[in-house]
Amino acid sequence: MRHLAEGIHRFQRDVFPDKSGLFAQLATTHQPGTLFISCSDARVVPELITQADPGDLFVIRTAGNLIPAYAPGSDGVVAGIEYAVAVLGVKDVIVCGHSSCGAMTALAEGHDLTGAPAVADWLRHADASRARIATGTTDEEKVPALVRANVAAQLANLATHPSVARALAEGTVRLHGWVFDIPTGTVEEVDEATRPASAA
Ligand code: ZN
Repeated sequence: MRHLAEGIHRFQRDVFPDKSGLFAQLATTHQPGTLFISCSDARVVPELITQADPGDLFVIRTAGNLIPAYAPGSDGVVAGIEYAVAVLGVKDVIVCGHSSCGAMTALAEGHDLTGAPAVADWLRHADASRARIATGTTDEEKVPALVRANVAAQLANLATHPSVARALAEGTVRLHGWVFDIPTGTVEEVDEATRPASAA
């Protein structure tokens, strides 16, 4: 914890002065262009991998970058998506998975999650992701294949949200799927052509 407090001091001393103009502007303005939905994994840092400035990204992070399909009711993920798309008017939405995702590994390898019932329950939102994996996928390919299939499946879930469906119909928002590879720092786009569902 101490290194975080020291980090705040370093930020105030070495970083903030160069960006004080930006922060002064951001004090009264919040107009991010992009909704970035990623896994909560500590190794995925949206602002770092995109080199985005403060104010650029509206970020939602969930375990496994899962986006439950829309259902009426109070829900933090639903509210965040609606606020970003309908109120802030973001132009792009990125769903970003990543290599060695713990959530996808647990599903691909069938880990015992009886000690973490909330996690097991939450991962049910990846049922469609698992269903997209082609039969015959080798054990070695399973996790990376599920990571990609999951991004595609969550993009489909995203489109069930009324705010997103409306913006798509009006052509005011575009959806993108990415996978961040931790050891190489590269980002692979999960486009229509590489989505298992459409390739089958
Ligand atoms: Zn993850």
